[in-house]
Amino acid sequence: MTWRFVSFLVGQLGAGLLGWWLAGDRAAALGLVVGGVLWLALDSWRGAQMLRWLRQGADFAVLPARGLWGEASSRAQRALRLRELETADARRRLEEFLSAIRTSPNGVVLLDAQGRIEWCNQTAADQFGIDPQRDLMQQVTNLLRDPAFAAYFYSGNFGRDIVIPGPRSLASRPVKLAVHLHPYGEGRKLLLSRDVTVLEQAEAMRRDFVANVSHEIRTPLTVLTGFVETLQTLPLDEEERRRYLVLMAQQAHRMQTLVGDLLTLSRLEGSPLPGAVEWTTVAELMTQCAQEGQALAKAVDKSSQQLRFGAAPAVEIAGSSRELLSALSNLVSNAVRYTPAHGTIEVQWRALADGRGELSVRDSGPGIAPEHLSRLTERFYRVDRSRSRETGGTGLGLAIVKHVVQRHGAELAIDSTPGLGSTFAIRFPASRLRAVVSPATGMPAPPATESLEG
Ligand code: ADP
Repeated sequence: MTWRFVSFLVGQLGAGLLGWWLAGDRAAALGLVVGGVLWLALDSWRGAQMLRWLRQGADFAVLPARGLWGEASSRAQRALRLRELETADARRRLEEFLSAIRTSPNGVVLLDAQGRIEWCNQTAADQFGIDPQRDLMQQVTNLLRDPAFAAYFYSGNFGRDIVIPGPRSLASRPVKLAVHLHPYGEGRKLLLSRDVTVLEQAEAMRRDFVANVSHEIRTPLTVLTGFVETLQTLPLDEEERRRYLVLMAQQAHRMQTLVGDLLTLSRLEGSPLPGAVEWTTVAELMTQCAQEGQALAKAVDKSSQQLRFGAAPAVEIAGSSRELLSALSNLVSNAVRYTPAHGTIEVQWRALADGRGELSVRDSGPGIAPEHLSRLTERFYRVDRSRSRETGGTGLGLAIVKHVVQRHGAELAIDSTPGLGSTFAIRFPASRLRAVVSPATGMPAPPATESLEG
């Protein structure tokens, strides 16, 4: 400011002195006026240059001007630089924020006050079948045409989420999406979506399971209650009483077996996977199953069945002996129960060429039609309900087998021909097998050659 004032005075006085020196007093006054005007013209020119500089975006070097205009231009340039840095920082943060939303496993859609799509991430585009570029500014209710969504959108009540079928949902492969609207800003909405297909399926399975268990327990319970009432109200002779008590014991046993199987299943689901700390010899498994199988055959009046156990190999399996025994006994029990008297059942161990080992149960029973094979391991799935119940089945045996097999990294292969029989084989991975070491020699023990026959 001082420089500006001094330059004005110097300019004016200089021009005045020059006029006085050249032409006397009158010219001095004229010189003063001319000096002032010239200074003003120069100042205005520099101001105009500064204005041009600002208008052109102030993107060239600082004006070489000094004084007021020089300082104003350098300060303006500094303020602009600061704003540019702030804008770049805000843009970077916005980009980071958007890329975080882009990678979100949930769908995110930003809607304007009219319900038009302003932005959406790829997850939302995939879930709703929309194009993140082409469908921008489209009305969301035109793209999500489910009536439940339209009712939810226009209700204005967004306190809860709703579940709608995904646009690519098929009867054979249903897709369920949970969507939730969150109002924000001035009439804008944030639409969040989550794929809940697996959760919904699990919930449906849980409902079915509870319904099935209740049904399975209610049936023997109703029968038991009936007998109890009969015993309480009717005068029965000793023979009738004995007969009724036998039937009651059967129903109680049926409930006990069901509860036992349910507990086994829940234990299998809730316990950690069996590691390689416990080893079970295949020979032990086969011996125990042979005894159980023979006892069962006797109990169901099928002692005439041929129950053959192949040569026990000198092999051990890594895993829970309790679980392995439960899986093999379920397969042997099914074979005994479904194969008619005089039929044949064979339990065998076979080493496969790729190093795996196979434990199989083959029977000459009624066999199973191909359309049932993929569903046999579902809980409570039965090909023939009455035959399963007659023989004391719970419908959970193969579900238990499947769990045990999965927990041991093995696979269950079912091969069956209606009228000819079935083979259920458990194939263990090579990593879970080892040769039994003989304590006497420290060498792998030779396989047992005897076969067990019932
Ligand atoms: P269940 O207790 O009814 O035997 P499972 O889960 O063990 O239940 O078996 C499911 C169904 O598979 C049975 O109801 C039966 O229809 C069929 N099944 C299982 N094993 C055999 C077999 N060896 N021969 C014929 N059908 C079988």
